[in-house]
Amino acid sequence: MSYFPDSTQQNLHRFAFSQLGAEHERMKQKPMVIWMTGISASGKSTIADALDIALAQQGRFTCIIDGDSVRGGLCRDLGFSEGDRDENIRRVAEVARLMLDTGLIVIVALISPSSASRHYARSIIGNEHFVEVHVDAPLETAEQRDPKGLYKKARSGLIKHFTGIDAHYDVPVFPEVHLNTQALSVKESVVTILEWIARRDDHP
Ligand code: ADP
Repeated sequence: MSYFPDSTQQNLHRFAFSQLGAEHERMKQKPMVIWMTGISASGKSTIADALDIALAQQGRFTCIIDGDSVRGGLCRDLGFSEGDRDENIRRVAEVARLMLDTGLIVIVALISPSSASRHYARSIIGNEHFVEVHVDAPLETAEQRDPKGLYKKARSGLIKHFTGIDAHYDVPVFPEVHLNTQALSVKESVVTILEWIARRDDHP
């Protein structure tokens, strides 16, 4: 992935929109991107959904960007090669950034297997707004859950470059939040994230 802007960037002049960055004051919340990474079936979408409900109950304004949804639209032209996965992550990070600028709490559920691309996403979004959540389950557990039947297909060779089977997942080294979904219930995972947010709000 080329992380460097091409020459057309030189002719861009960002307009200084009056309300940019001020919306969150109206929403009375600290915008952030909660970036959930983990192998397939680790629980990202399930926890993202439950977290979204919990945040809405607190009166927060949120949006979810889910890997499977963007793959069906914004990123439908991309495959699963390393380069395409990186581009997928770059686009999601850029969209998350736009949503962040509107003052929302953005929940991203995306395998995002390489630490380099997660690092890049963090650089797009800004370290102070980026909350990396490692949704962690052992491969055997994820494979037993297999809610979409994808591991079965990958094991039989019907899907190539499947993370955990024939494609690598870089385990996050210092995620802001680590969730062991083999040990924690969905509710406990949500509470763990909410507690992290509350601690940060107390000590920004
Ligand atoms: P991902 O988005 O990471 O691919 P999903 O959320 O789509 O994963 O699927 C995870 C599956 O595992 C769901 O069927 C969910 O009900 C199940 N599951 C079982 N225990 C847990 C848990 N403790 N946390 C999250 N998901 C769990």
